[in-house]
Amino acid sequence: MTKISAKCKLCRRAGEKLFLKGERCGTPKCGIVRKPTPPGMHGAKGQRNRSEFSQQLAMKQRVKRIYAVMESQLNKYFQAVRNKQGVTGDLLMQKLEMRLDNAVYRAGLASSRRQARQAVKHSLFQLNGKNANIPSIELKVGNVISIKENKKEKTYIKQITQAMKESKGAGLPAWIAIDPAKMTVEIKGKPTRDDFGSGIDSQMIIEFYSK
Ligand code: SF4
Repeated sequence: MTKISAKCKLCRRAGEKLFLKGERCGTPKCGIVRKPTPPGMHGAKGQRNRSEFSQQLAMKQRVKRIYAVMESQLNKYFQAVRNKQGVTGDLLMQKLEMRLDNAVYRAGLASSRRQARQAVKHSLFQLNGKNANIPSIELKVGNVISIKENKKEKTYIKQITQAMKESKGAGLPAWIAIDPAKMTVEIKGKPTRDDFGSGIDSQMIIEFYSK
């Protein structure tokens, strides 16, 4: 039997799919499908009787892994929203969702956030017509992501543009719209709680950082 990878162990620890391995995540080879119990000798038994603090810590770790951000970056997002009007947890999640790499992933231009980050770093995209190779760029409503003209012949780009044309935007979150003819992605609004994904309790992260 194939060994379960370190990334898949993160999913097993979180108890849900974090979609860290692209296309493999949707196949029966997915680590959590093959072995749904938490990793380690004690498996599910080790997860019982967790303190409030350890649950909050686990939630923060889960979100860090899903969005593949460093502790310092997540903390920075928390500091930026902690005194803003609105539900702090939702504002924190919006910061994560509105990152350029996340929007590339959400728009279907990559099969995982890690792949999206690589694609952004390799300068495949433009933002409002200008080069954009920093994954953490914070998008604003009205921003338009496009594929660089000189990258359109790359096999990867050809594959995703084909997939984009075939899907015609089906299944995209409401805050993202694609134009399959122009091959552009427009940010139409701000993501809401429904877009954050089930199983994420952002308030637990706020409570963790507020201690
Ligand atoms: Fe591995 Fe992806 Fe399945 Fe997670 S969702 S266990 S990363 S294959």
